[in-house]
Amino acid sequence: MKLKLLTIVFFIVTRMLYAQSSENTNTYQKIVKQTDEIYDNLVKIRRDLHMNPEISKQEKRTSKIITEYLRNLGLEVKTNVGGYGVVGILKGDKKGKKIAWRADMDAIKTDEPDPVTFIKSKNEGIRHICGHDVHTTIGLGIATILSQQKKDLGGTVYFIFQPAEETFTGAKDMIKDGLFNIIKPDEIYGLHIVPEASGMINFKANELFAYQRTLEVKFMPSANENELENFMNSVLKGYVRNPLKGSPWDIINNISDPKIGITSKETVYKDYFFLDGTKLYKDQDTIFFNASFFETNIKNTHSIPLDIKKQILNSRFKDSFISIGYSRAYEAPINDPELTKIAAQTIYSFYNEKMFKPLYGQVPYFGEDFIFYQQKVPGVFFFLGGSNTEKGVNSMPHSPNFAVDEKTIKYGVQCFASLIFERTNNQ
Ligand SMILES: [Zn+2]
Repeated sequence: MKLKLLTIVFFIVTRMLYAQSSENTNTYQKIVKQTDEIYDNLVKIRRDLHMNPEISKQEKRTSKIITEYLRNLGLEVKTNVGGYGVVGILKGDKKGKKIAWRADMDAIKTDEPDPVTFIKSKNEGIRHICGHDVHTTIGLGIATILSQQKKDLGGTVYFIFQPAEETFTGAKDMIKDGLFNIIKPDEIYGLHIVPEASGMINFKANELFAYQRTLEVKFMPSANENELENFMNSVLKGYVRNPLKGSPWDIINNISDPKIGITSKETVYKDYFFLDGTKLYKDQDTIFFNASFFETNIKNTHSIPLDIKKQILNSRFKDSFISIGYSRAYEAPINDPELTKIAAQTIYSFYNEKMFKPLYGQVPYFGEDFIFYQQKVPGVFFFLGGSNTEKGVNSMPHSPNFAVDEKTIKYGVQCFASLIFERTNNQ
């Protein structure tokens, strides 16, 4: 009897899961088709943005294009939020959750030649080498596709087009300017282009990156500089937990290694501290000792300055010591574990599972101000591969030859329009 009951329960649950998954697949297939129809136009938009890149806090033209596009879709649009930030609000005809999607839009100063000759930047010395033109285009694509589902869409979708990500100020400025008075999302999502194959999507719960810090220690000029530098370097060496031998750049080179890289459960990038350079300099009244490092454990970032201070006060430099603190601190995006699990299950129900993979460990060298939204609203930040080795396209952000296979736009819109649709309709 018990077994029979269990069998019935099992049968019902399996049917429910199957129904859910086939429903998701149907919506996804519809969205795939609709994305194909707008793809050529999205490529045009992306090329226009690529030809007219604007640096942080100067995204005037980009924000105007976004505003006009969203208004043409029939969205309610708020402009000049925290600088050139734009917020689009799409209300579905049914009741449901409120989901935010964030895309950044700024470019970077660089004189390196663009490998993509047919869409060179018109603004000399500025180029989209971090893929934010692609992020913006994917955001507009998702807005288009979800506008087409308005009748079936439960809840509200907020589109946040953020300026000044590169300076790590845009998210903070939008929030300070009342972003969360304008919108009240239950969940927030976003993505960044990475050098994986075009269409590959990676996800991970908790911290995505290592914490990046610059420590600044001040001493009085009475201290002997050489001795002080040797002392401080030896103190800092005591904290090093380096996953690999070699310089920091040797370390990043192994990040995609199938055995020890971040796609492997056995990754070595999960518990480390490594120094990214130290510097000693002085002005009239002060000797400054700066040390930049990456640390995976947030608790250590709190204890390290206190601990170093103790060591200095126990040393012969105690009388020249003035102060210690961080002069620069970049927080890591932290993906809500429960939401990551739910979002992953949803994406697995429709996306090619070979192209949707978990990551392990924490990536050094990357920063992302998406964390400032996540401090207010649970959210998940994804990586979307943009490379195509056959075409010689390499999507390593900020590298001189950075480029994106434009098909990536299609994958991004298809996957994340579907995810947002499912999330708004999920009570
Ligand atoms: Zn970026």
